Amino acid sequence: MKGKVYLVGAGPGDPELLTLKALRVLRCADAVLHDELVSAEILKLVPRTAAVQNVGKRCGRKSTPQDEINTMMITMAAAGFTVVRLKGGDPLIFGRVGEEIESLRRAHIEFEIIPGITAAAGAAAAAKIPLTDRRAASKIVLATGHRKFGRAAVGQISPDATLVLYMPGDDYDFVSAELQKSGLSPQTPCAIVSQASTDTQQVRRTTVRDLAVEVPLPAPALLIVGAVAATAVESAHQLHDEISLMNCWAQL
Ligand code: SAH
Repeated sequence: MKGKVYLVGAGPGDPELLTLKALRVLRCADAVLHDELVSAEILKLVPRTAAVQNVGKRCGRKSTPQDEINTMMITMAAAGFTVVRLKGGDPLIFGRVGEEIESLRRAHIEFEIIPGITAAAGAAAAAKIPLTDRRAASKIVLATGHRKFGRAAVGQISPDATLVLYMPGDDYDFVSAELQKSGLSPQTPCAIVSQASTDTQQVRRTTVRDLAVEVPLPAPALLIVGAVAATAVESAHQLHDEISLMNCWAQL
């Protein structure tokens, strides 16, 4: 009897931003392989009977090699288990899911993808920035500051685009210079959004030029760059309201 693998997005951190489908699948999981970015509150929703393993980077320790993660998913599903591969945000965005899909297909393992709220959407909501605005931004570019083989160049960015830079790293001076090389003027508004949707979220508004001298905000963080970022609402450690999510879900 073959099991199944669910490639599931956990959203940006707040458990209330998990989809109902993700929650349902988590509740019937036999095994959960999760990335480091999945919040502790979300992991509390996994049944006690499930085997849970962190396959992400931990305190300087290296993450489980991708091949090993692929083998674990395949072995467990082939043994008949329901396996949830739980990733931060959306699994299809900067989540190495392409390699996982390939290996599952090759092994003829049934799988399903459950989307999640990507960090760009979570961060934009936290900073109250519209990612598009018909007056100023007609496209969105999602880019990473990090690539498998070294730092990525963002490429040319037009002034009517909103750039969301995932994994910007801590070297804001370098990022500021790269953004200017991409054609963005030094005055372009920029928002740094850290730990969006959690009770430690922070938003700082700056410009592409002044980014160079900003003190880095705690990871995970991303940058929203473009005219729309001028509307960012700054915050430091915004607390959520105290409604107990667990109680609400217990009643579902
Ligand atoms: N699949 C994920 C992205 C994984 S890459 C998604 O769709 O969101 C990891 C990067 O996402 C982090 O380095 C950071 O840039 C961004 N990120 C993830 N969660 C975040 C959060 N809560 N707040 C701000 N940025 C976040």
